[in-house]
Amino acid sequence: MKLIFLGPPGAGKGTQAAGVSAHLGVPHISTGDMFRSAIQNQTPTGIEAKKYLDAGELVPDSVTIAMVKERLSMDDARNGYLLDGFPRTVDQAIALDEISAPDAVVDIDVPDERLMSRLTGRRICGKCHGTFHVSKLTDEHTCPICGGELYQRSDDHPDTISTRLKAYHASTEPLIGYYKGLGKLRQVNGDSQLEDVFKAILATLE
Ligand code: AMP
Repeated sequence: MKLIFLGPPGAGKGTQAAGVSAHLGVPHISTGDMFRSAIQNQTPTGIEAKKYLDAGELVPDSVTIAMVKERLSMDDARNGYLLDGFPRTVDQAIALDEISAPDAVVDIDVPDERLMSRLTGRRICGKCHGTFHVSKLTDEHTCPICGGELYQRSDDHPDTISTRLKAYHASTEPLIGYYKGLGKLRQVNGDSQLEDVFKAILATLE
């Protein structure tokens, strides 16, 4: 199955994608993770993308589409994919339709007023890459799953979050109409318990 997770930053796309991709047996492809890893490895894509990630702005379509095209040509994506964070513009969606069109698009909906606290309180494990919220942690520096060290993403700070939310509303939200028009859109309420959102996603895919 070829699947897209749509939704604002902080909707829980990454967390849900980890479980759903394992369930469906398709690779979880996160463009945000790909950019962060390219930045860490100082590749040409990483060097180009860094200023946009630091500012909370979208990386230009040409760079992003080329990176995704290469990733989708790899063997593990032959039988499908779960894209998390791509497409984020209508031009990216049109390009994806030409590369390998999705079967379904799940829009995980969470109201704006919930997103700021979700993102400012988000902590990530440097070892197992699990995502947690400080309100649920007894020790905000240590991963409750593997004991790894938790960190805060550099773009999870209020100013950058506002820019990311603006970019979502201006450039990504129009994709809801785009995929609705193609009859591929499924909508799920993301403002509830993780397990309930997971079940709602699987139910909408049946
Ligand atoms: P994410 O981890 O999905 O929140 O993405 C983090 C950052 O990576 C975004 O704020 C953008 O700067 C960049 N990014 C990720 N995916 C895309 C995309 N599809 N198009 C443009 N920029 C992206």
